[in-house]
Amino acid sequence: MNHQPFEEWLLNDKNLTHTERHELDLHLRTCTHCTALTATGLALRSANVIAPAAGFSMRFQQRLAAQKVAERRRKLWGMVVLVLGGVGLLGWLATPIIYAFLASPVEWITVIIGYFLFAITSLHALTEVAAVLVRIVPDFIPPYVWMVLVSALAGLGLLWIISIWRFSRVPQGVSA
Ligand SMILES: [Zn+2]
Repeated sequence: MNHQPFEEWLLNDKNLTHTERHELDLHLRTCTHCTALTATGLALRSANVIAPAAGFSMRFQQRLAAQKVAERRRKLWGMVVLVLGGVGLLGWLATPIIYAFLASPVEWITVIIGYFLFAITSLHALTEVAAVLVRIVPDFIPPYVWMVLVSALAGLGLLWIISIWRFSRVPQGVSA
């Protein structure tokens, strides 16, 4: 079916003469394509583009700022609750210890000092034992053990020197 010139008229929203309008009516009765085009044109003309109310962007920005403030306040309150909760929990856990301490401070101080002394004396004893071992052990090791140790060290040293020598030779081999 030939839609011209009717399609052209509809798309350009032409002001039609009386005869043109009559021809178009006749065509529209048989043509679904141009009928649909007419309906679309009517729908587009009737759709009003709603302009944003005055001061829209300003109100939008104000609302955004208010939201940011509210969010910051929420975070602050969250932190306060967290800190208070932590302090409360700590206090709740520490209360029995504090009560026990207040009930008999001297005993507790004695216990604490006792722990410190124990730690210090055991550390001292450990260092003494280590010093004694360092002094005594060389006398206990027989000469052949020393020979084995020295030869093992020498072997390791030799291996090390050989490996360095091999590594340093590799680039030469590649370049040659
Ligand atoms: Zn048509």
